[in-house]
Amino acid sequence: MVTGGCLCGEIRYEIDGEITEVSHCHCGMCRKMHGAAFATFGTVEREHLRWLSGEEYMQVYDSSAGLERVFCSRCGSSLLCRSDKAPGVDYIALGTFDGDPGFRPEYHIWVGSKAPWYTITDDLPRFEESD
Ligand SMILES: [Zn+2]
Ligand SMILES: [Zn+2]
Repeated sequence: MVTGGCLCGEIRYEIDGEITEVSHCHCGMCRKMHGAAFATFGTVEREHLRWLSGEEYMQVYDSSAGLERVFCSRCGSSLLCRSDKAPGVDYIALGTFDGDPGFRPEYHIWVGSKAPWYTITDDLPRFEESD
């Protein structure tokens, strides 16, 4: 069981299923949304993601056609992405987890859009665009 939430604590969730395809995304949209060098997401079947509180604070931003980004309207935390291309799953932002989920990121995507000031220093596979 993984638990997590936004910075202000209004939005809380738990995940009771497997989290797969854990990756660092270097695309320009993730960098802007997270205010960071990259964002880290894992894929979870939507039925395994339970919202415990704060759903009234959830805001959706359509960052591109068919791609929704959910964030907290009170504190700005980026919580997840959803794509029309992958119905039934959510991409949860690992930065919102409470503790150690026990698994580690597997690869980097959209490395072709990487921030010029950031250097990847691990040996994980890198993909120029999506995997
Ligand atoms: Zn919040
Ligand atoms: Zn991205």
